Amino acid sequence: MFEKETQIEERLSALAKRLYRKPIQECTDAQLYNCVLMLTKEALADRKANEGKKKVYYISMEFLIGKLLSNNLINLGIYDQMESVLAKNGKSLSAIEDAEPEPSLGNGGLGRLAACFLDSIATLGLPGDGIGLNYHFGLFKQVFKDHLQMAEKNSWIEKRSWLNETGTTFEVVFGDKKVTSVLYDLDVAGYESGLGKLHLFDVKGLDEKLVKKGINFDKTATDRNLTLFLYPDDSDEAGNLLRVYQEYFLVSNAAQLIVKELKDAGRDLHKMDQYAAVQINDTHPSMVIPELIRILTWDEEFTMEDAIKVVSKTCAYTNHTILAEALEKWPLSYIEQVVPALVPIIKELNARVKKKYKNPKVWIIDDSKRVHMAHMDIHYGYSVNGVAAIHTDILKETELHDFYELYPQKFNNKTNGITFRRWLLSCNRELTALLDETIGTGYKKNADELEKLLAFKEDEKVLSAIEAIKQGKKEHLVQVIREKEGVELDPNSIFDIQVKRLHEYKRQQMNALYIIHKYLEIKAGKKPVRPLTFLFGAKAAPAYIIARDIIHLLLVMSDLINNDPEVSPYMKLVMVENYNVSYAEKLIPACDISEQISLASKEASGTGNMKFMLNGAVTLGTEDGANVEIHELVGDENIYTFGKDSDTVIAHYAKADYVSRDYYEASPVIKEAVDFIVSEQTLAIGHKENLERLYNELLNKDWFMTLLDLEEYIQVKDRIFADYEDRAKWKRMMLVNIAKAGFFSSDRTIAQYNEDIWHLS
Ligand SMILES: *Cc1c(COP(=O)(O)O)cnc(C)c1O
Repeated sequence: MFEKETQIEERLSALAKRLYRKPIQECTDAQLYNCVLMLTKEALADRKANEGKKKVYYISMEFLIGKLLSNNLINLGIYDQMESVLAKNGKSLSAIEDAEPEPSLGNGGLGRLAACFLDSIATLGLPGDGIGLNYHFGLFKQVFKDHLQMAEKNSWIEKRSWLNETGTTFEVVFGDKKVTSVLYDLDVAGYESGLGKLHLFDVKGLDEKLVKKGINFDKTATDRNLTLFLYPDDSDEAGNLLRVYQEYFLVSNAAQLIVKELKDAGRDLHKMDQYAAVQINDTHPSMVIPELIRILTWDEEFTMEDAIKVVSKTCAYTNHTILAEALEKWPLSYIEQVVPALVPIIKELNARVKKKYKNPKVWIIDDSKRVHMAHMDIHYGYSVNGVAAIHTDILKETELHDFYELYPQKFNNKTNGITFRRWLLSCNRELTALLDETIGTGYKKNADELEKLLAFKEDEKVLSAIEAIKQGKKEHLVQVIREKEGVELDPNSIFDIQVKRLHEYKRQQMNALYIIHKYLEIKAGKKPVRPLTFLFGAKAAPAYIIARDIIHLLLVMSDLINNDPEVSPYMKLVMVENYNVSYAEKLIPACDISEQISLASKEASGTGNMKFMLNGAVTLGTEDGANVEIHELVGDENIYTFGKDSDTVIAHYAKADYVSRDYYEASPVIKEAVDFIVSEQTLAIGHKENLERLYNELLNKDWFMTLLDLEEYIQVKDRIFADYEDRAKWKRMMLVNIAKAGFFSSDRTIAQYNEDIWHLS
């Protein structure tokens, strides 16, 4: 449709005239954003959706899509033309991108994965759509006040947006009320060709006025609040009734949409599995299984036997965590209250399991009348997958061992991936250009071709170009941090970055203890060879007290360090406010050292680790999640690993023999760092309550074993900083990391899902 720059310019200019009665040059960036948005939507509307006999429905409570403009322009193949048209008119595309509000429809990795998967499904030409909820405020906006995290609402839906009205509505019947849903669609363009949809359901009559201060709202008005907010929980705390309402609202709409599409296409529902695959992203959408069974038996005259049979051949489950507290176990009484219609079905499913298997550990409903959602998925789905090799092994050997013995053939691994369109082509156009020049453009569709870069391992020109690109990205980040955070950073310092949700298992507190250690060394006169810059970005679930205390410690330390003239020339610490996808796109290309330091066995995969690697950062990590696979790919000489392995950690939990105080007392270095949390200096800036609580937690509990690996972490981190000075070696490490990142393209992941699970045709 828009082949030539002139066509784009004509259309843009017509839109500017129609919407604002002005030529392009006189529009503000926000006005031009709307014009470019409309133009891009027209181009998307011209694409034909991927078609086939069988289609996948990827159901997820979260799709952390991030801003869409730049990505859509790239996938439509008109980014360069648009940039040039705007430049000709004295406008900057990147300034216009800044005007786009960011949809935060996910908490972190799980939601971002779902967004990457949609991009790859569309790109590979596979028929498949995402189904989720149209949260009006999504995840909260984080602001720092008085060194504490505060939560504000984060609206993103403006008069003009990427959402398309569809006219589709369904009735969703709860125990105490009936609501009407409305469906909005987002177009998901594949790279160069292909199109899928993200279906986002909303509730008719949603009332934004229910929101009071911050993110507080009337939680009981479920007919008017269902899609106000995303549940701000990244697998750490028990849920509540509203969450069950939201989950049922999602799956009831999803099931109705799937059945409608099959019937509209004239399919025999008895052969549903030949036309549809339903991927259940973590346990949140698990009720789609009993809901599909309910629809088939109530509305389509199926016998219970037949309904269970076909649904079990259609649904597949992805497990994302082994954190026990995150595996959903809803009280049956909650489900009884929210959707009584599903209770007899869930009971029937459980009765069949009990009849067949005497081991109560595999039953769906336990002694305390709680429904184990994952158990339902495993018995009544045809595939169970983990998200990295080590994670799937732990599921088979430990967490889900009893199920693995029953159904070994259902278990499979699908190591996560990231879309290179967003995490390379869009966020690092300079590196993309260098790759195009050096190895050709084939890697954009066939990521394994990145390995061609290995031939340039000793090529000084390519190595220096990679280094120069990193330097440019660091300089750009320095500007961004100056504007957004008001801190001046040194672009010649080492950029050491840990960005991800705040959780004890990810061990930001261990990084904080290293920083305290370094601060004390500098105070004692031991200065680093080169200045160090530590960057963090993380939101904590508002109800997760210790996570908020860790943020408090980081903010207190940054105040202390950055304002101490004895220390700040040698180190700086910044915790960026409101870490989100757009911030990630600026931080990741500028990173030298990627911090992936979770307690071994706890990070199912991680995907941040992959984004950093692809952009030429070197990983400092534990043998956890996909770090293990990164290690295998790049070899010992191109990664820094440390820490106790997952077997050791799992044994500590089994024997309950980890005592953090022993480590504290045995090591003066650890003791000094931990004690500093409640020192005069920190207490002068921060809050006694928060700092003491964190100190006591580390000393008396430390459930995620921070002190177990701290000494080794300090050693390896000092080694990696020293190695940074060997520039020849470092540049080679950067190159190898980029070259080996091809495996982590979500195109590979999705091809494997299709090959082993979906069998789309
Ligand atoms: C990739 C990504 C994550 C996941 O990061 P992990 O390090 O894998 O936990 C979280 N949030 C955002 C905004 C991301 O882009």
